[in-house]
Amino acid sequence: MNLTAPAQIANYIAGTLQAPLSNKYMPNVNPATGETYSQTPDSDATDVEAAVAAARAALPAWSTTPAEERFKILNRIATLIDEHLDELALAETNDNGKPLTLSKRVDIPRASSNFRFFATGIMHFSTESHSMEDKAINYTLRQPVGIVGCISPWNLPLYLFTWKIAPAIAAGNCVIAKPSEVTPMTAYLLSKICIEAGLPAGVLNILHGTGPGCGSAIVAHPAIKAISFTGSTRAGRDIAAVAAPMFKKLSLELGGKNPNIIFADCDWEKMMRTTLQSSFSNQGQICLCGSRILVQDSIYERFRDEFVARARKLNVGDPLDENSRQGAVVSQMHYDKVLSCIDLARQEGGTILLGGQPATLQGRCANGLFIQPTIIEGLGPNCRTNMEEIFGPVVTLQPFSTEEEALQLANTSDYGLSATIWTQDISRANRIAAQVQSGIIWVNCWLLRDLRTPFGGVKNSGVGREGGWDALRFFTEPKNVCVEL
Ligand code: NAD
Repeated sequence: MNLTAPAQIANYIAGTLQAPLSNKYMPNVNPATGETYSQTPDSDATDVEAAVAAARAALPAWSTTPAEERFKILNRIATLIDEHLDELALAETNDNGKPLTLSKRVDIPRASSNFRFFATGIMHFSTESHSMEDKAINYTLRQPVGIVGCISPWNLPLYLFTWKIAPAIAAGNCVIAKPSEVTPMTAYLLSKICIEAGLPAGVLNILHGTGPGCGSAIVAHPAIKAISFTGSTRAGRDIAAVAAPMFKKLSLELGGKNPNIIFADCDWEKMMRTTLQSSFSNQGQICLCGSRILVQDSIYERFRDEFVARARKLNVGDPLDENSRQGAVVSQMHYDKVLSCIDLARQEGGTILLGGQPATLQGRCANGLFIQPTIIEGLGPNCRTNMEEIFGPVVTLQPFSTEEEALQLANTSDYGLSATIWTQDISRANRIAAQVQSGIIWVNCWLLRDLRTPFGGVKNSGVGREGGWDALRFFTEPKNVCVEL
């Protein structure tokens, strides 16, 4: 199987690679070079209709295929992803701008883990039974929802795309999936892998296109019974407005503005090392990045000076160079947005301690979209810089004195995705973990992921949980059967 990136991407419908019905395409740009290197289908409602027809035809057989058979196919997909790690990682980096070392170490291995995890999960999935003593027995059937929609963003392209698709098809659904139009390549390559793995035609249909042109047609289609969406809070709101009155099942994984709470008694070296990662990994374009760094006042100056000194050394460079720690941001639109957020921080009275500017590279990357790691201080909790998601290599520092003040600052946000707590005092860690308004808390670590745990946010960070049984429950409908004895 040849998994080099083609000059033209195709949709995957009914088990075959197809051009969009309108024959319209959009340019796909490598953000590290500025070069348009492929064309992406600009699919619309007619392509969604064709995908739904394929899914409808496949559903009766797939939804009754024994779990062990589904396990085998998903496992084959995982193995093929592993075998093609190098091509997939290169495609991800060229599409997204992230360092190749990161694609190889995190993105692509996690995509195969997603398939392997839910392949084995479906073999162990079980349902409840409720006995009414000698009167009756209830048992719960969990049946596939039917045809479901999976829509994902550009920041962890194959990683998040497969995080939705794998549980959906493991549970016996047929899927209409749309990756981000900004990073379509690895989803296209996944189509080829699914064909090679023997996934029956129509079980997974991958459409490429924009949110308004293609995503919204998936959300609005009456035959699609559940929508699993990861992306911005703005799009999540639009999706809920259409899907909720149609009574579709909804899982919305949205934006974040995560606090990183650092107490004076933390393990300094581990905290420093991890805070650099949680601030700037993937150019700060991870929904779980800690963008509001809250530091106890007794260590504030020491932290600030050392953090700035270490961040200054992060090498912004060609994503293909293994010495680069920071790659390009994903697109011109996002580059402009991040720089305008930095300008806003200046207008709001923030002091830029580091960065605040584009980074200019030479040679192959001279036209790339690079931004220096940026650290800002001097802004209060209620300004726009500290309230709105920037989703780039930009963090702010705020001092606090007491535990109560730390909590208050942490919870001054409309978002509630994740939080990180740094302290050696285990009682304090547990107290704060219980009171921070976030769906995911890390204590003395960051982005340590066990795929069985519930994943998702509160407040404007979304509704529903992914991961483990939560995902398999989302993609199935419980039906109670009561049998009188
Ligand atoms: P986005 O909302 O612009 O797009 C996400 C996906 O939705 C894309 O495929 C897009 O084409 C599609 N889309 C957009 N509008 C749509 C509509 N009205 N109907 C249907 N589909 C639509 O987000 P993005 O810029 O690609 O990604 C960045 C955002 O994703 C950030 O806000 C980030 O925090 C969030 N994110 C959240 C998580 C999480 O797990 N909570 C993980 C990663 C990223």
